[in-house]
Amino acid sequence: MNILILGNGQLGQMLAQATIRLGHACLLVNTRTNQVMPAGAHVPMQLSIAEAVDWADIVSWEHEQLDPEHVQLAADKLLTDPAKILPLTHRQLEKQLCDDLDIATAPWVAFDTQEQFQTAVTQWQGKAVIKAASGGYDGKSQWRYNSDEPGDLVALGDTAGRQPGIIEAMIPFQCEVSIVGARAADGRIQCYPLVENVHRNGILSHTFAGFNNLPAHLQQKAEHAFRKITEHLGYVGTLAIEFFVVGAGDSAELLVNEIAPRVHNSGHWSMQGTNISQFALHIRALTNMPFAPFITQPTLMVNAIGIAQIPDSLWQDGEAAPFWYGKEARPGRKVGHVNFHVNDRAGAEALAAQWAPELQILS
Ligand code: ATP
Ligand code: MG
Ligand code: MG
Repeated sequence: MNILILGNGQLGQMLAQATIRLGHACLLVNTRTNQVMPAGAHVPMQLSIAEAVDWADIVSWEHEQLDPEHVQLAADKLLTDPAKILPLTHRQLEKQLCDDLDIATAPWVAFDTQEQFQTAVTQWQGKAVIKAASGGYDGKSQWRYNSDEPGDLVALGDTAGRQPGIIEAMIPFQCEVSIVGARAADGRIQCYPLVENVHRNGILSHTFAGFNNLPAHLQQKAEHAFRKITEHLGYVGTLAIEFFVVGAGDSAELLVNEIAPRVHNSGHWSMQGTNISQFALHIRALTNMPFAPFITQPTLMVNAIGIAQIPDSLWQDGEAAPFWYGKEARPGRKVGHVNFHVNDRAGAEALAAQWAPELQILS
């Protein structure tokens, strides 16, 4: 089949690799320049987006911030209705969707104007994270607030209150986890085991995958939320849900943080750690291919952030699988990742402590 991906960043490129490996053909759209690109090269083709859509049997995306023009052109070939995933690009609507589906999230209030922001923040009790409704990623467009030390609310209003957003309770979580899985065109659903995510400066630093040290009922709860959300959205493909884990043991609960209707950084471990990567799973889901049970191995994924290159010692390490995205390095920008085969949690923790600081320039 011919598959066209909207977006040609690292997620698009990794989707393209999976597509090719499954015997399909793949083109990508650079959604910033509106040019059609072959996989793996940043050389625009002499092909309009309309012609590329014509060529494609299926159109999919690497990021959910879709250009309405692309949506219009590709409408017949997108397997998920873009209108249904719009709420996931707007934090107020995303939180409302979770409330409507009876899926627990952090307590929140919405604001649209600076006046509303001032009222809401003045009434807020406790610690909060303020998030712009749209456009934020990797912890950008977020502000911290504590009613015990309110500081200069006018100044805060000038930044945090400048655009519509939410004020959300700061959650004292035990840890952060995500469920990544896919729903196929015929409705089959399969999820990977929950993975544990550690953030630094609001950016995903590393992921522990293939360890069974989370209370077992959380997997069920996460998969339940996954089914509810993907069925409600009529979603086809790989999707990720980020959660906060609150409480411990039998009383541990999950609060949804965000839903990403696409392949996700916290699924990159699957390129080495299991038999079907999240990218291959996405393509299998789109093309209605069979799934297979996941056989997972303990894996640590560490993001490379802001550094100019991955050290030689990692390219020389048989237990490490480095990926380099070929992007210009800037502090806080994801430029690659490394998957490590690990034996146990203690070993993974030690590797993360060693490599996260070395592979990451955050600011
Ligand atoms: P992503 O790159 O995952 O899309 P983002 O910029 O959309 O990130 P969030 O996922 O909302 O931002 O937040 C980034 C991180 O900040 C979270 O993973 C978590 O570590 C921390 N954080 C966000 N909201 C809260 C909260 N309500 N309570 C505690 N920590 C939070
Ligand atoms: Mg996000
Ligand atoms: Mg997030």
